[in-house]
Amino acid sequence: MRVFIGVGSNIADPENQVHSAQQALMTLPMTRFVVCSSMYKSPPMGPQDQPDYINAVTELETLLSPHDLLDCLQKIEQQQGRVKGRHWGERTIDLDLLLYGDELLADARLKVPHLGIAQRAFVLYPLAEIDADIMIPGIGLITNLLAECPRDGLERLISK
Ligand code: ADP
Ligand code: MG
Repeated sequence: MRVFIGVGSNIADPENQVHSAQQALMTLPMTRFVVCSSMYKSPPMGPQDQPDYINAVTELETLLSPHDLLDCLQKIEQQQGRVKGRHWGERTIDLDLLLYGDELLADARLKVPHLGIAQRAFVLYPLAEIDADIMIPGIGLITNLLAECPRDGLERLISK
């Protein structure tokens, strides 16, 4: 299955946190790493008294079920010291399952496509960098979503 993972961080050396999470994604069982977007920097969503975020999107090809993949993502978050804080508050690392093929999933633990995917510049722009023709199931073509989504201060970082 073709899947996309959103990776974000805004504390404890965010670029390095995102990089480490991407390295961990490369070693998941039954999964092949495909590509990473550039890293992007953006002002925080929600509480403004927190540092800017670094975000990126990673594409994988996996045989893991959506819930097994979520388990793996949450294990990586724990390994990198994610602690539960305020809503939309600062985090060392956040791994979100953005898309799982063209499947629509909604249960207590997992909603796919990830909620907010259609409005968030820091998700849409890196996703479109990987594939400008992606269809977001139940929502529409990414090109149409981008047309309605201002960059909101989103800045693409030049890779080192
Ligand atoms: P957020 O990413 O919205 O800031 P968290 O990372 O704290 O929030 O995630 C809270 C919960 O979101 C997790 O316990 C998980 O069960 C749930 N969740 C629902 N859908 C998804 C998804 N597509 N990807 C990751 N987590 C999800
Ligand atoms: Mg999350």
